[in-house]
Amino acid sequence: MNITENLLLLKSSVPDHVGIVAVSKMQPVEALQEAYQAGHRIFGENKVQELVQKRMQLPTDIEWHFIGHLQTNKIKYIASFISLIHSIDSIHLLKEVNREAIINKRVIDCLLQFHIATEESKFGLDIEEAEDLLNSKVYREMKNIRITGIMGMSSFSDDIKLVRKEFHTLYGYFKKLKGIYFEHQASFEVISMGMSGDYLLAIEEGSTLIRIGSSIFGERQY
Ligand SMILES: *Cc1c(COP(=O)(O)O)cnc(C)c1O
Repeated sequence: MNITENLLLLKSSVPDHVGIVAVSKMQPVEALQEAYQAGHRIFGENKVQELVQKRMQLPTDIEWHFIGHLQTNKIKYIASFISLIHSIDSIHLLKEVNREAIINKRVIDCLLQFHIATEESKFGLDIEEAEDLLNSKVYREMKNIRITGIMGMSSFSDDIKLVRKEFHTLYGYFKKLKGIYFEHQASFEVISMGMSGDYLLAIEEGSTLIRIGSSIFGERQY
């Protein structure tokens, strides 16, 4: 199987309303080029330096998404072009993104990342922290970021019931925040959940954006 076939197969198994981020971390530029030639335009990376280097070698009409843990001192390298940051997990980070967005005279779309997995190691907010953030004066005064939805990663587990429950929880957070804070903001519509191993489950539970690496590109080259 090659990348083009993988993409076609994936697209045929996903409903039209669900977007696909091709997660190209640790893949060579040639792999991204093949996906681009197959018509794909949305790529996700989790390291700033890797993203910036790949971007220089690829066409300019690619939409780049940042999906990893973002350090505040690196925002400046992606602020001029990034299409969506999936991984906002503190007011401090959001504030710094807003600052860099002002410098670049643009509005940067962001997702709030939630911690839904059982593992300790995964980043993300809980619902109380998210509400504190959204209620804060600091947030309400930010003009150069726009929160367009939420993101989460399920537990690394074969337990389908558990993973389904986590996705269901994330969907519930989306509904809650939409109702309280974003009822009149149509652009708050993104639920980024689902990876190669669990995207069908995620879509059943309401995902609108899946992040797929190995099912498109094969194993990563560590
Ligand atoms: C690596 C990664 C993915 C893609 O994982 P696959 O299992 O290869 O599809 C999705 N989301 C995030 C945040 C990742 O770091």
